Amino acid sequence: MLDNLEKFINLKRDIAEINIDPLQRGGVLTPEARATLMEWGDGYSVCDFCTGMLDHIKNPPIEEFVHGVLPEFLGTDEVRITHGAREGKFAAMHSLCEKGDWVVMDGNAHYTTVLAAERAGLRIEYVPSSGEPDYAITQEGYTKAIERAYEHKGNVSLAVLTYPDGNYGNLADARAVADACHDYGVPLLLNGAYAIGRMPVNARELGADIIVGSGHKSMAASGPVGVLGATEEYARTIFRLSSTKKNKEVELLGCTVRGAPLLTMMASFPAVVERVAHWQEEVEKARWFSAEMEKMGLMQQGDRPHNHDLMFFLSENLYQISQTAKKGRYFLYRDLKDRGVCGIKPGLTRQFKLSTFGLSRPELDKVLSAFLEIIESYDRA
Ligand SMILES: *Cc1c(COP(=O)(O)O)cnc(C)c1O
Repeated sequence: MLDNLEKFINLKRDIAEINIDPLQRGGVLTPEARATLMEWGDGYSVCDFCTGMLDHIKNPPIEEFVHGVLPEFLGTDEVRITHGAREGKFAAMHSLCEKGDWVVMDGNAHYTTVLAAERAGLRIEYVPSSGEPDYAITQEGYTKAIERAYEHKGNVSLAVLTYPDGNYGNLADARAVADACHDYGVPLLLNGAYAIGRMPVNARELGADIIVGSGHKSMAASGPVGVLGATEEYARTIFRLSSTKKNKEVELLGCTVRGAPLLTMMASFPAVVERVAHWQEEVEKARWFSAEMEKMGLMQQGDRPHNHDLMFFLSENLYQISQTAKKGRYFLYRDLKDRGVCGIKPGLTRQFKLSTFGLSRPELDKVLSAFLEIIESYDRA
């Protein structure tokens, strides 16, 4: 094995010109972040400048970023850098909840929320969504789920709302959910993996006690990197110091992101602030795109009108084509790729999600034309 390693050198990335995978849209680096990645790519690159606490490094200006800029951006008292949204959720659950406690979460929650709870030894009570076609999550659902969890005879120590969820791109009424949780004294963690860095989100205004975001998903950063914010009340516990190792926060194992991923997030940040200010244009573009897809016989699920760039479509017509097309269900992936579009998982035809984030109208026109051409080409056959 060790005598044939050439293949690991010069790895190339084969993607189409336009990538509509929701996972990819918000993590594209700015040119500045790309240059930063080269500059700071070596292992522990930022640690040359550390005097014991990563988040207090003054040059490069990590301290100002973590303790000045990010708390204002997120609307929260304290912020730390994590390796991603999942690590933030785990840190909060692990520190704020006792093993065996209940955590209440929406039925649209990301799998990583479930795994974080499992790893922290927590039991889960779900808030079911309304199901097809809206998959809505309500305040009342949280109230009922918290009540149910108490009936199981346990402590309910945390609630999580996925904002938006990663399947339908639904934005629930977070303020109302927070109020319901607070009526029971339960803190709310807002999972903003698909929100922070794309759209305006202010934890304080939404009533969220804890908030997590994903740098590689929505903040134009080369991951793994994320943000974890908390109000003073919960930050004290989550970011508690070690009893033996001076200046090291236990829950973060001392230091989290020790090099390039953090610096790319910082280098992209001015552009991220700028794009967040233009969020309404992204929403309008998504709505227009959805309407155009529906003209071709596809059906958008989730919130209508939609409030986010991540959209889920049912496409019975494409499924029908897959029944007879050469290559079967892989036809869509192949035919889109032939037209310069990728990002829909190979093999999916009957339902899929996509994102319009950061794509221009001409680029989206190209995507729409690709779908139309594909549908028409099989109509004729
Ligand atoms: C992508 C995603 C995550 C995971 O984010 P990481 O930063 O990779 O941990 C968590 N929650 C939701 C809703 C997501 O879409």
